[in-house]
Amino acid sequence: MHTDARTLENGSVVAGDLCIVGAGAAGIAMALEWIGAERRVLLLEGGGFDYEPRMQELYRGEIAGLPYFPLEAARLHYFGGTTGHWAGFCSTFDALDFERRDWVPHSGWPIGRADLDPFYPRAHQVLGIGPYEWEAEQWRRRDPALVPFALDPKIAWTKMWQFSAPARLGTLYREQIVGASDVHLFTHANVVEIEANEGATAIEGMRVRTFEGKELRFRAPRYVLACSTIQNARLLLASNARATAGLGNGNDLVGRYFMEHLEMPSGNLVLTRTPAPATRMYAFEFGRTKARGEMALSPEVQRERRILNATVSLEPAPLEGAAQSTFQWGTPEVVERMRTQRVVPDAAATADSMAVRAEPRTFHLMTRQEQAPNPDSRVTLSGDRDALGVPRARLDWRLTELDRRSFRDFYEVLGREMGRAGIGRMQMRDWVMERADAPWPSSLGGGWHHMGTTRMHPDPKRGVVDASCRVHGIGNLWIAGAAVYPTAGCVNPTLTLVALTLRLSDHLKSATA
Ligand SMILES: Cc1cc2nc3c(=O)[nH]c(=O)nc-3n(C[C@H](O)[C@H](O)[C@H](O)COP(=O)(O)OP(=O)(O)OC[C@H]3O[C@@H](n4cnc5c(N)ncnc54)[C@H](O)[C@@H]3O)c2cc1C
Repeated sequence: MHTDARTLENGSVVAGDLCIVGAGAAGIAMALEWIGAERRVLLLEGGGFDYEPRMQELYRGEIAGLPYFPLEAARLHYFGGTTGHWAGFCSTFDALDFERRDWVPHSGWPIGRADLDPFYPRAHQVLGIGPYEWEAEQWRRRDPALVPFALDPKIAWTKMWQFSAPARLGTLYREQIVGASDVHLFTHANVVEIEANEGATAIEGMRVRTFEGKELRFRAPRYVLACSTIQNARLLLASNARATAGLGNGNDLVGRYFMEHLEMPSGNLVLTRTPAPATRMYAFEFGRTKARGEMALSPEVQRERRILNATVSLEPAPLEGAAQSTFQWGTPEVVERMRTQRVVPDAAATADSMAVRAEPRTFHLMTRQEQAPNPDSRVTLSGDRDALGVPRARLDWRLTELDRRSFRDFYEVLGREMGRAGIGRMQMRDWVMERADAPWPSSLGGGWHHMGTTRMHPDPKRGVVDASCRVHGIGNLWIAGAAVYPTAGCVNPTLTLVALTLRLSDHLKSATA
């Protein structure tokens, strides 16, 4: 079922059994699970079925701290959410990502990789990626041309990635959701406040406001917030009628520990031999490649060097200009291009140059590194309000010396191993080898990945949600999405956030059975 919330009468109250706020990757993955579950599910989406400039403008915010993409360009505000932009790069978290690492402050999830294993294959289906096979050898069996580098597994390994088409969930699942009798999608239903009871121990409703000035309320015994990392924190902080610091924020944790992936061009690799036996395994062609490898360091080496997790992809040399332009992507022209093309900026334009070449020899190294959790890296409310009266978000993105040192150590170890194995020579950019307290270079860039702000921890003094993703202290509010990540892993977040959402959905089903 679908209703445009603007057509409801002012003051309407709508009731259901479960209320999901936000219809992006997480919200849609959850709603699909409830089709046929014989519950009345309310799915509230702020936008319509297409891009609208004034809806997108609601995302505008302030940037403090390190430079970052303009917030109104970094997420999409309509049905399907940011999957209208995503590139479809997927990989799984490693077991070590979930562990407490004594060299990474605030690390450790209350769940392990094994807890997500049953949900990853289901997430593959939602996002339209290939088989649940993540070993290089499995892909080599499928295609003998996919030969990984012969690296010492005690030091380095080939971590596999898979690529979604990329699936635009708003297009892919619109008919299914609109046609479902038990999921009721409301578009143009922007939640402006999460309304709590007097003690702020339970949610009583979602207050929605339209541009036309209508106020509506949506009520259910259970609520799931799936508006994406920055927006989830913003809504909790802005909902301060019953709790002055915001909902779930009794311990001043909401908005903290904002994390990105550091995605940065870091140097070059020149292969020793031409043609190299393994370049097919690491090559990528936008829209065509189903799987490829990236190089990562073993858990043993990460432990020994006390560094963060990272992978590095190989990109044929002529990509230099595109790879360096990360922050130019945020200019108004690029935002406009993203809007009209709805593809990853530059990806389409550079698709030809990224095409798998017959015998490439020189590659640029593109690092993806997790960011260490940092309480000072945070989202707060700005003094400015949006057109619906909600305070805007203020992002203060911050990094630590561990982030910087890990970059250097990663390449010291990998470079040595590549030389030892006779694969090739790595030449790093100057900044990579600088001291950990040196400033970040102007090419500092994130991956458009927003994580943290409502981190998971069993102790309410150290996390906003518990292991089931329920907000501590509030009996009926859960959070779906990468906002709950305590650490970021080194891979793009969407596959794991969808897996976590499916886990949450199962949990809620068993709670309501
Ligand atoms: C250019 C780009 C490339 C990317 N590439 C990749 C990639 O290759 N791989 C990867 O894993 N990830 C990628 N990502 C990240 C990926 O898009 C996000 O991880 C994912 O979309 C997050 O899902 P979500 O459901 O949490 O948020 P979103 O998909 O952003 O959905 C949130 C939804 O909530 C709605 N909403 C917000 N506020 C309200 C409100 N107040 N009331 C009602 N509804 C509201 C929004 O309209 C939206 O529909 C990329 C992102 C960008 C921008």
